[in-house]
Amino acid sequence: MSALIKLESFCKTYRTGEMEVHAVRAVSLEIQAGEFVAIMGASGSGKSTMMNSLGCLDRPTSGRFWLDGVDVGSLNRDELADLRNKKIGFIFQGFNLLSRSTALENIELPMLYLRPGISTDLQTERAEKALAIVGLANRGDHRPSQLSGGQQQRVAIARALVNQPKLLLADEPTGNLDTQTSMEIMGVFQELNRAGMTVIMVTHELDIARYCKRNVVMRDGRIVSDTEVVNRHDAMEELKKLRLEQQAVQLTS
Ligand code: ADP
Ligand code: MG
Repeated sequence: MSALIKLESFCKTYRTGEMEVHAVRAVSLEIQAGEFVAIMGASGSGKSTMMNSLGCLDRPTSGRFWLDGVDVGSLNRDELADLRNKKIGFIFQGFNLLSRSTALENIELPMLYLRPGISTDLQTERAEKALAIVGLANRGDHRPSQLSGGQQQRVAIARALVNQPKLLLADEPTGNLDTQTSMEIMGVFQELNRAGMTVIMVTHELDIARYCKRNVVMRDGRIVSDTEVVNRHDAMEELKKLRLEQQAVQLTS
C-alpha cells in the first residue's frame, strides 16, 4: 500500500525581493494512513510552511509530494483546490470561525464548495453529525461568541470533518487554550485517530506532543529527529486524574 503522504527532497523557498528564505530544505518523509504525528520545533523552523505544503495550499519549489498517491506538483490550481477540499480538513490556532454565523452554519461552509454539490438537507444532516462527534450536539444554533474557546475549537474540528477527509491538519490547535481544555481537545483528536483518522499537528509544547504517536522535530527547515512516542499520554486518563486531584484539593481546603 502506498503512503498517505510521501515527500521526496521537498523544498520550499520564499523569495522576497533579493532575499531567499529556505523555509523547508530537502525533506523526505512518509506518513501512513492512521498515524498521529506532531511536528515540533522552534519558531521559524519551518513548521507552518511544512503544514501549508502538506495541506496543498501551495506547491513545492522543488522535490516531489504525493498525497494519497496523487502527484501534487503536477496539478493545476483548480485541481489542487479540489484535492484539498475533498481530502484535507484544516484546524487553526485561532479557530477561524465566522463570528456572525452559528456553529452549524460554520460547519456547513466547506460543503458549499463541493462539486457536485449536495442537498441542503444532507448538508444539515452531515453538519449535525459532525457536531455530535465533537460532543456539542445541542450547541448548533450558538454563535462563536456564545461558546468557550474549547467549544469553538470543537466546532472548528467538526467543520474540518464534515467533508469526510482522509487527513486532519492542525497548526497549534491548542495554542490559545488552557491546560485542561488542551487535554480535552487532544482527547477529541485521540478518539478520531482511534476511529482511523490520520492526524498531523504542529505544536511547540512537549506535553501536547506526547498525546501523539510520532514526533517529528524540525530545525532550520530540516527534520532533525523522527521518533515514536513511548509512554504516550491518554487524554481521557489524564483528565480523570486531574478531576480527582481537583476534588482532593476541595476536600482539604
Ligand atoms: P514556524 O511555523 O516553524 O515558526 P515558518 O514556516 O512560519 O516557521 O517559517 C519558516 C521560515 O520561512 C522563517 O524564516 C520565516 O520567516 C519564513 N517565511 C514563512 N512564510 C514566509 C513568506 N510568506 N514569505 C517569506 N518568508 C516566509
Ligand atoms: Mg508557525
